[in-house]
Amino acid sequence: MSQFNLVLLGPPGAGKGTQASRIVAEYAIPHISTGDILRGAVKNGTAMGLEAKKYMDAGDLVPDSVVIGIVKDRLQEPDTAKGFLMDGFPRTIPQAEALDAALDELDRAINKVVVILVDEEDLVKRLSGRRVCRTCQAPFHVMFNQPKVEGVCDKCGGELYQRDDDNETTVRNRLATYRKQTEPLIDYYDKAGVVARVDGAKAPDDVYEDIRMALGPAGA
Ligand code: ADP
Ligand code: ADP
Ligand code: ZN
Repeated sequence: MSQFNLVLLGPPGAGKGTQASRIVAEYAIPHISTGDILRGAVKNGTAMGLEAKKYMDAGDLVPDSVVIGIVKDRLQEPDTAKGFLMDGFPRTIPQAEALDAALDELDRAINKVVVILVDEEDLVKRLSGRRVCRTCQAPFHVMFNQPKVEGVCDKCGGELYQRDDDNETTVRNRLATYRKQTEPLIDYYDKAGVVARVDGAKAPDDVYEDIRMALGPAGA
């Protein structure tokens, strides 16, 4: 592929963030996580953050107009010229259509959608034990992916914390929201013939090998 305009799709807890850091390192493209951008806005107390927090705490989606605006702005940055990895976006059909339209204006298109598949009960276990770095957002897990020092990020030394929305009630709602609003995107992208499905139940390194196979060599 001459460009890597990529989407990482999958339910909450599937391992998108875990795989994203590997993909962007090898393929040298920016990681665009709408979840990370929204949490940054919440932390900074911006008007958008205050609005978004209500939805995030409930496990509902932030309105399309808000996230579409974020992504369109982000695509104006020069580092996206050779490609990008969308993580957690799009999450609805209108978001996918808006992304296609924005790329079309730039004479570009999505060339691969990697779907990470994991059973629902495993997702609940992954999300309820997840810990995230306050500084670099790297995900860890109290059992499945322990940091070398408890509470401290291996990558940057930052403090690990538990996200407000990683509690069982909110997790169940996020999974229901995924099934209803986001899963239909697999069909949407299947019609464009760009979907690669990977088994996310394997160990992180093995999942990444499958993703590399699907994407092909960097710089080809
Ligand atoms: P997402 O970005 O899709 O919500 P994360 O990458 O944050 O998912 O992973 C969710 C949780 O599951 C984290 O605690 C992470 O450490 C853990 N995890 C990620 N991949 C795996 C895997 N292949 N096996 C077991 N646990 C994993
Ligand atoms: P996860 O992959 O673990 O569900 P994210 O960090 O991607 O978590 O998203 C956290 C929350 O941020 C979502 O539950 C939702 O409220 C909001 N959010 C993130 N991306 C989007 C999006 N593309 N559309 C609407 N809401 C979003
Ligand atoms: Zn860190």
